[in-house]
Amino acid sequence: MAHRITEECTYCGACEPECPVNAISAGEEMYVIDEDVCVDCVGYHDEAACVAVCPVDCIYKV
Ligand code: SF4
Repeated sequence: MAHRITEECTYCGACEPECPVNAISAGEEMYVIDEDVCVDCVGYHDEAACVAVCPVDCIYKV
């Protein structure tokens, strides 16, 4: 399990500092989540921190 960012990403960068496991980084045209690192915020937050801050709701669980 992990989360994924869609092409709707506006490159705002809001999610990157919120991730407790540093799974998010700036890609060439959008931010990307390393799905091998993402833990769905289990053990850190009640809901995914990146989803909570994304202003355009472009992050979903895979
Ligand atoms: Fe990071 Fe949590 Fe988002 Fe996964 S769900 S990328 S662990 S903030």
